[in-house]
Amino acid sequence: MDIAAVIVAAGRGLRAKQGGGDLPKQYRTLANQPVLQRTLRAFFEHPRISQIVAVIHDDDLPLFQNATEAYGEGSISWVKGGEMRQDSVVAGLEALQSQAPGGVLIHDGARPLVSPNLIDRVIDALEHAEAVLPALPVTDTLRRSENGMAAETVDRTNLIRAQTPQAFRFEPILAAHNAARTEGRNDFTDDAQIAQWAGLDVALVAGEPTNIKLTNTEDFEVAERMIQAGGEWRTGTGSDVHRFGDGDHVTLCGVRIDHDRSLLGHSDADVGLHALTDALLGAIGDGDIGAHFPPNDPKWSGAASDIFLADAAKRIAARGGRIANVDVTLICEQPKIGPHRDAMRERTAAILGIDVERVSVKATTTEGLGFTGRAEGIAAQASASVWLPPR
Ligand code: MG
Repeated sequence: MDIAAVIVAAGRGLRAKQGGGDLPKQYRTLANQPVLQRTLRAFFEHPRISQIVAVIHDDDLPLFQNATEAYGEGSISWVKGGEMRQDSVVAGLEALQSQAPGGVLIHDGARPLVSPNLIDRVIDALEHAEAVLPALPVTDTLRRSENGMAAETVDRTNLIRAQTPQAFRFEPILAAHNAARTEGRNDFTDDAQIAQWAGLDVALVAGEPTNIKLTNTEDFEVAERMIQAGGEWRTGTGSDVHRFGDGDHVTLCGVRIDHDRSLLGHSDADVGLHALTDALLGAIGDGDIGAHFPPNDPKWSGAASDIFLADAAKRIAARGGRIANVDVTLICEQPKIGPHRDAMRERTAAILGIDVERVSVKATTTEGLGFTGRAEGIAAQASASVWLPPR
C-alpha cells in the first residue's frame, strides 16, 4: 500500500511558549535542531513513506523553510493549516487528494521522538484495518483533584493513552473528516476519534513511552536527555599545506597578518581554516573541502575561507550535531603566531558559532627542518570533536 504522511504543525503551542521565547513549540530548539525538523526526518528517512505534507501556520513559513532546508527544497510539501486541529488535518488530506495514497499516517509535529519501528508497526496493522491507533496502558493511579486536594480515584481498567502516528485508509478518513465538517463537529482531539465517530473500526497497536508529545518546558528537558543519551561522539582530523609566494600578508585562522610573503592558493590560502574545515567534515563523514568547493571553480578564486568553515558548521547543524571542540596546530617558523592566537581563536569561534573556550589554536616550528623549516610554506593540522544525535 502506498503510504503518505500528514504532519500537523500549525498549532501555536502556547503552553511550551512559557520560557521558550516567542517560537511555537514545534520550532523550538531540541538538541540543536528545530523540533519539526526532527519529526519530519523520521518520516522523510522511512522507506515506506512515499510523500509528506506538513500542515503549518501562515506566520511560520520562514521557520518551516529553515527547519526543512536540510531535506532539499520541495522534498516536503506544505499547506496552510486551519483554525482548529481538525481543519489542519483536512487541509493536509486534501493536499494529498490529487495523488491519493492507499493509506495515510497522521502525526503530531510535536512528537519528534517517534521511532521507525512505531511507524512500521502502524503501517503493518493498516494492512488489516481501516484505522490504527498506537496507545499505551495507563500505569499511574488516576485521581481527580478538587481545590488542590486529592479527590476520588478513577478506575483505570481499560484506559489507554492515545499517541500518533495514527494510520488510516486514505479515502475513509477523508470522508470521515468531511462528514464531521458537514455536521459542524469540531470537538475531536484526534483522528482516531473522528474515524470511530464515522463508524470505522480502530485497531490498537502498542505505542512507545519515548514517543512523548512536547507540551511543557519539562517535556523538552526530558526529550533533550533522551536524545543526548542516544547520540554519539565523532572525531575528525584534517591537514593542509600552502606554499609561500610574493606578497605582503598571510591569512591564518581568519586573521590577516602582515608578512613579507603571502601564501599561494586558489582561495585566500588560509591553511588553518582549510585543515579545520576538513576535520569537521571528517567527523561527520561528509567528504572534504575540495568536494564541496572544487578548486577549479572560478567562483572560489580569492574567496575568504570562512565560507568553507561556515559551510561545514552548517552541515553539522543540519544533522542536529554540535561541535564540542576544535584544535588547530599551525606549523611554521614565521610569522610568529603567539601575538595573534587569541584573535584567531575568536575569529574561528565566531565563524563556527561556538564559545571561544572550545577553540584552540597552537603553533609549532619544525626546528628549521623540512619545507616549513626552510620557510617554503605553512602547514596546518586540525582535529574536531562533534556530537551527533541518534539517527
Ligand atoms: Mg588549502
